[in-house]
This record gives sequence, C-alpha cells and structure tokens, in this order.
Amino acid sequence: KYRLRYAPSPTGYLHIGNTRTALMDYLFAKHYNGDFIVRIEDTDIARNVEDAIDSQFSNLNWLGIIPDESILNPGASKYGKYIQSEKLEIYREHAQTLINNNFAYKCFCSSEDLEKDYEKQVARGIVATKYSGKCANLDIPTIEKLERTQTEYSIRFKVPANGIWTINDLVRGQVTFEAKDLGDFVIIKSNGIATYNFAVVVDDHDMEITHVVRGEEHISNTPRQMMIFDAFNWVYPDFCHLTLIVDSTGKKLSKRSGNSLFFIEQYRSQGYLPEAMFNYIALLGWSPPGEQEILNKEELISIFDEKRFSKSPSTFDMVKMKWINSQYMKKLSDEKYLDFIKNFIDKTRFDTTSKTKEWIDQVLLLFKKEVEFGIQINDHLNIFFNDIQIDQEVRNQLEELENYEIPITIFKNKIANLKHWSIEAIKEVIKETGIEANLKGKNLFMPIRISASKSQHGPSLADVIFLLGQTNVLKNIDSFKF
Ligand code: GLU
Repeated sequence: KYRLRYAPSPTGYLHIGNTRTALMDYLFAKHYNGDFIVRIEDTDIARNVEDAIDSQFSNLNWLGIIPDESILNPGASKYGKYIQSEKLEIYREHAQTLINNNFAYKCFCSSEDLEKDYEKQVARGIVATKYSGKCANLDIPTIEKLERTQTEYSIRFKVPANGIWTINDLVRGQVTFEAKDLGDFVIIKSNGIATYNFAVVVDDHDMEITHVVRGEEHISNTPRQMMIFDAFNWVYPDFCHLTLIVDSTGKKLSKRSGNSLFFIEQYRSQGYLPEAMFNYIALLGWSPPGEQEILNKEELISIFDEKRFSKSPSTFDMVKMKWINSQYMKKLSDEKYLDFIKNFIDKTRFDTTSKTKEWIDQVLLLFKKEVEFGIQINDHLNIFFNDIQIDQEVRNQLEELENYEIPITIFKNKIANLKHWSIEAIKEVIKETGIEANLKGKNLFMPIRISASKSQHGPSLADVIFLLGQTNVLKNIDSFKF
C-alpha cells in the first residue's frame, strides 16, 4: 500500500509552497488508494512558532487535504508518534545503534573548535567546507576520558569514503552525489535532539513511507538520508523533488512576492473558495493530460499521474488563481453563493441591518457573475448603501456624450410618474426614453446609468434601478446639477 507523508516544520503558517507539497502527496496517495500522513517535524526548537501547527491543520482541512493519519488521528502504534518532539529518545537509541556498528561516533569538538577549523579551510581557498573528521577515530580510553571531562558532545554520521549515491528522482531522473563532497554530519546535536536528516529517516522508516514527495530545496539532503537508510539496512522510499514555485519576477514565491498572496489564511479571508484553490495549486508543477484545467478534487485524484510532474519551475499566476476562483463562484447555487458572499460584506461600510433579507439577496445576486473572490463584493455595494459622490472622471465621461441632459430629463419625468415599480416597467421606461430622445446604445444608457446610479459600470441597468428604488433614483438624478 502506498503511504505518503507531508512533513511540515511548525516554523510558520501554511502557505502556497508547502500546500503544493501537501497536495501532491495527497493526490499521489489517493490516486493509488494509499494513505496520506501528516507528520510534524518540530526538532528545530528555536524556530518553532506558537500556532503554526494549528494553522497547518486548520488550513489543510479547509482545503480538503485531509490526513488519514496525523497527531489528531494517529495510525497503528507500530508507525510511531506523529510529532518528532515525542520521539527524541527513540532517535537517540537509533543513533547509539549506529555508534555500536561503527556508522557514527561521538564528536567532542566545541563550536569554537569547529569555527576555527572552518576558517582555516576558507583561508586555504576551500569553498565547500566540511568537518575534518577529527573525532572519527578516537580510541576508547580517549573517548571515556572526554566523556568524563566534557559532558557535551554531538553524534556524527560517518560518511563512507568514496561512496556514490544516485537518486532515481521521479521528477529529475538520476541525480548523483559523491561522498567525498560531504563531511561527517551531525545526527544528534549536543543538546540531545536529533537533526532533521536523521529524524526524517527514522520516521520514514517507522511509518513505512513508500514515496517521499517534497520541495527541491531538500534534494541535497537526500544522499545523506540514503546513507542512513543504508547504514540501518533499510530500503529507501522513492524520491520525488518538486520544482520551485516562482513569482511573476521569477524569484521563489515568498511572503515578499509583490503581486501574490502567500499564506492560505490570506486567501481564506479574502474570500477564495477552497475547491478553487485546490484546483489551482494542483496545476503548480503538475499538469493534467488534457486541455481541461477546471478539475475538482475527485477528478484530480482520478487523473493524477506521477509522470506528469513538471521539470521546470512553475509561475504562480494570481490572475489565473482569480479566474479559477470566479469559475467556481459562478458554479455555486444561488443559495450557496449567498451564504458564502455574506461573510465578506464589510459591515463597517454597509449597514445591512436596515434592509430586508430579500432585497440584500437580490443585490448580492446581481454580482454573482462579476465577483472573482469574496471581498470584491464590497466594490459593488457602494451605490446601494452609500450616498456616493460622483467623481470628476464619471462626470467627464458623461459630459463627453452629446446632449446627455435630454435623455436624463425624459427618463426622470417618466420614473417620477411610474406607478408600478417593476423591472419590466423600468425596461419600458428606458425604451420609451430612447424613442423620445431618438438615442440608442451608449448615448442612451450611459446618461441614465450614471445619473440614476452614480456609477458608470454595473450589471443590468433595469435591475440596478429596480433595486435602488424610486426615491433613491430620483435623488441621485437630482444631485446632478445641470
Ligand atoms: N520538515 C521539512 C520541511 O518543512 C520537510 C522535509 C521532508 O519532507 O522531508 O521543509
């Protein structure tokens, strides 16, 4: 059975980059009816952020990337704990096994010793500095003496001399690393805590992970992890390193990327739909076989193919994200749309309590096809709630039209005398105004729209006028001083 894991370090909130990793792990696992596991890698204590774990789970859940196993719903006990800080003793025991089998050793070098040593290497022109191996071959009496006099030591993995490791990466094909470029690396730090490279191997083994899908920034860690697998005589999982996600300037997408939002929470609060995000993020570094790009979770699971990962970086395109979201918004039933969009009305600007539910629903529905994401609704509500000022640009637009006062005057008289307020009747008034003024198209609609609604854009004119109501329309027209 396929078992894939997403292994966030709780050093920050869920963002586009790690969501993409989680999503690919999820699709890969689900396509093969396998398990998707979330494991928390919290051994870098100084960098852990208080509510990062909550952010990971709450946002993954919102997106529909639901773990089969995690700290919240652990699997069989043989898989071990789903958070590394609860496994520290186990990592130490495994490190001891490696020492006993001569794959690792205690290193008594202080950080000052190491610093000096690296400086010397740099002075000799060595760029890729590495540990000298000083403590690799201490004899037992020396080790025993150092243990008595010096309580702090780290444990280093002994990188086999002349070894070559080849990753059969699902994205990049064969990638080869030579051991001579790598120094003996720390697996247990002097504070007794396992390093990432060590804990990850023990966990991937314990959890019976079959495929490791993660970002390409980890590829240089992979040979170190393979050596540890080998030292324990464990089989390694298949590796798959996803290419970078870059912003519109070609730099790695980050919270500093100008045009794009970075954290999932930001999308959530701006009114993006989880299904739309799931869809778009699945297209980052992976492509579906056909032309169709609007694909829901079930469709993506079913067409997922690990041979279709992209070999080049993918650009996060905010415009496309918005477009996909708008496609999902349009597909919502009116009822779902209303439930959703109401969460995003800015109550400090628009007092909805003074209106009827029916009226609000009708106003909101006018924009169902226009809003790309939730909070955009606020750009449209102004004319229905506020006594907005006509800005100079709108006035200029109007004044550019020849004889614009004529249709406005005719329209105003007819509206003032209208007995029965209905969309049909309003349409009729607009039509009659056109005939009497002998105008059509823009020359007819623009003066009416601008004067009646104080806005030059909007959905169906008759609908807007109907919902504004007779009194407001007349007031709006009067506020234009001809
Ligand atoms: N904890 C690592 C990270 O957040 C994940 C590494 C891995 O997937 O092996 O980058």
